[in-house]
Amino acid sequence: MKVGCPKEIKPQEYRVGLTPNAARELVAQGHAVLIETGAGMGAGFDDADYTNAGAQIVTDAAAVFAGAGMIVKVKEPQAPERAMLRAGQLLFTYLHLAPDPAQTDDLLASGATCIAYETVTAPGGGLPLLAPMSEVAGRLAPQMGAWALQKANGGRGVLMGGVPGVGPANVLVLGGGVVGTHAARIAAGMGADVTVMDRSLPRLRYLDDVFGGFRNRYSTAGALAELLAEADMVIGAVLIPGAAAPKLVSRAMLADMKPGSVLVDVAIDQGGCFETSHATTHDDPVYEVDGIRHYCVANMPGAVPRTATIALGNATLPFVLALAGKGWRQACKDDPHLAEGLNVHAGQLTNLAVGEALGRDA
Ligand code: NAD
Repeated sequence: MKVGCPKEIKPQEYRVGLTPNAARELVAQGHAVLIETGAGMGAGFDDADYTNAGAQIVTDAAAVFAGAGMIVKVKEPQAPERAMLRAGQLLFTYLHLAPDPAQTDDLLASGATCIAYETVTAPGGGLPLLAPMSEVAGRLAPQMGAWALQKANGGRGVLMGGVPGVGPANVLVLGGGVVGTHAARIAAGMGADVTVMDRSLPRLRYLDDVFGGFRNRYSTAGALAELLAEADMVIGAVLIPGAAAPKLVSRAMLADMKPGSVLVDVAIDQGGCFETSHATTHDDPVYEVDGIRHYCVANMPGAVPRTATIALGNATLPFVLALAGKGWRQACKDDPHLAEGLNVHAGQLTNLAVGEALGRDA
């Protein structure tokens, strides 16, 4: 099969759908790979990295879309990209159709087959093509929070690890899932005093068994109010699948926090878990409400596109190879978890949850 990868065109998106190593594996299995010139530059891969891997560089996205039977991307296709999709073509990327009827209409009209990263599942549960981005955002959260805690950046002027004779920063992590666990590990690794809160006792038991570097507490409003007053940094990492994030910290509760402390709301892409959160961008990531600094970037992995591209590529590669090698029908027959990723085929919505969210038949 001819597998194509255009340069991402959504603003501030520097990741790329195929790494040179992924291209090399496809070529080794007998496929042709078409890469738009400059597609990997934002992630630190130049055209020569791809040609050395056996891929062919083409001059623009139109050549990728015209030449390839399968398109691999990162972000949902933007309007000009949707206009280039055609019947019978396979698109494999993040789609997030539920809140996006305009994109849905265009994909249905294209006649293409569209498999969404975010609805592919894993045998043991979980979402294997979302997990790498949660890992990245989780590990980045204490790093960004530590920056925001610095005085020159408006923060309280507290060093994560303290020094001999001076205690470390107190970090509270709300939610001990993928994001929360990775955030807690990094914060603890920086020397901070870390507590993770979760509503799931099995999860708290797991964290207690596996990780020695931080404490955990069952998440109730009372326990949260108690711990909030001590915190220099609070990382919001809760998720209720299919629902907006619960607002665990109200505006009134900010009054009990230390001035200059920092909220990092990773859950902002689900509406955020602090009442005072609103989405920010990498250009202007932090704002203040009632003396508390807020970092609420909705696309945190965008800050580290090289790590994020390679992490995503590691997770997508087995699926890319299966789709290219067997065709989407056989690959989805062989792997029901990949089949859950099928969102659109030949003008039909094919994912029940996405159809329900859009109020349409699937
Ligand atoms: P996850 O499902 O692995 O973990 C969520 C955890 O929250 C679960 O353990 C759950 O028990 C817990 N939880 C639910 N309600 C709670 C409550 N009231 N108190 C405490 N804990 C509670 O999800 P995840 O992959 O860790 O993702 C967390 C959030 O981060 C999601 O909203 C996700 O969309 C977001 N995210 C954002 C970015 C970004 O760039 N901003 C990147 C990746 C993920």
